[in-house]
Amino acid sequence: MSSRRNFIEKVTVSAIGMPLLFNSPNLLAATEASYDGPVLRVAIMGLGSYGSRVAKAMVDCKKAKLVGVISGTPSKIKDWQAKYSIPKKNCYNYDNFDAIKDNDDIDAVYIITPNGLHCDQTIRVAKAGKHVICEKPMAISVAEGQKMVDACKAAKVKLLIGYRMHYEPKTKALIQMRMNGEFGTPKFFQGQSGFVIGDPTQWRLNKELAGGGAMMDIGIYSINGARYILGEDPIWITAQETKTDPVKFKEGVDETIQFQMGFASGAVANCLSSYNIGNLDRFYMSGSDGWLEMKPSTGYGPIKGRTHKGELNQPHVTHQTLQMDGMAELIFNGKQPIVPLDGEEGVKDMKIIEAIFEAAKTGKKVEISI
Ligand code: NAD
Repeated sequence: MSSRRNFIEKVTVSAIGMPLLFNSPNLLAATEASYDGPVLRVAIMGLGSYGSRVAKAMVDCKKAKLVGVISGTPSKIKDWQAKYSIPKKNCYNYDNFDAIKDNDDIDAVYIITPNGLHCDQTIRVAKAGKHVICEKPMAISVAEGQKMVDACKAAKVKLLIGYRMHYEPKTKALIQMRMNGEFGTPKFFQGQSGFVIGDPTQWRLNKELAGGGAMMDIGIYSINGARYILGEDPIWITAQETKTDPVKFKEGVDETIQFQMGFASGAVANCLSSYNIGNLDRFYMSGSDGWLEMKPSTGYGPIKGRTHKGELNQPHVTHQTLQMDGMAELIFNGKQPIVPLDGEEGVKDMKIIEAIFEAAKTGKKVEISI
């Protein structure tokens, strides 16, 4: 569905019910003054469940547009071509996508494939001279993440990680409050990130493709969240792993890990990452002069947040729409999000994940410098 059709449909709705019109944040965005600046032309690689969500969200973008696809499944390419008016010349598969270097109609490739493929794919896209947006976790090891950063630097293209929460309005408001000193000195963060995973044959439970289990996929939200809520990076880690189903969660695929992080300021964090405990989507922070709670904290929304000053009421806008418009602004104008989401940031989270795995395995406190 084109933005125009989307707009017309929404305007038709408004003729029936005016209050509805002004209650829809997406519609408010669509009715803003028309945008005539540059548009980031994006090809999505990996047309799976999250790729489909991003594509749908991009219909409402003003500064980014889906113009191409890279997929190993010809029938999916056909469906997407029809749905998003993608010309044949912008369609590639995993064997031939290096040829994207000769395609002037594509500025960036958004990699939304299993984690274990991100590194090679990023390097190939960078060599083709296109900006890379890569899903979290950026890779399955620090070494891979660093290779990706180096390759993008060498090719003089941007590497951005799909940390959509960095553009989410309530998250941004809370980070701003912390920056303004409204919580005083941050002292304690609690992060709970988890869900009960289904199909035991999926790639998320395959060490080679996933790089681990819950930690790479969902625990990373508590890691990144601790960093943006506290505004600091950890200096030590301790961790404990619990495995109740070693058949489903094989060697190297973590089911549940509790981990603690210490920060130079003296702040501490206590977090839980799980593929076998449901309803875990909550952040809490206590500072010397106040507190915040987010629940849900990182789901697709609406996010809810409250502090010692009351409820947050920023409107919900589809995260990926804000993210892609924001990334376009970053690429074109260098406009940074409230907290960074470049490749170096991704590597920091990979360093913390590796330290958590080491701490869980050895039972020792692991010192890190990131
Ligand atoms: P998915 O299984 O739904 O889709 C993966 C896609 O990759 C499929 O289209 C599949 O065909 C393709 N693929 C290419 N090579 C493959 C191979 N060798 N094995 C398996 N699939 C292969 O997964 P998803 O949920 O879309 O996740 C993709 C990426 O997006 C992951 O890195 C994940 O962590 C990330 N993700 C991010 C968010 C977020 O909120 N930022 C949410 C979900 C997923």
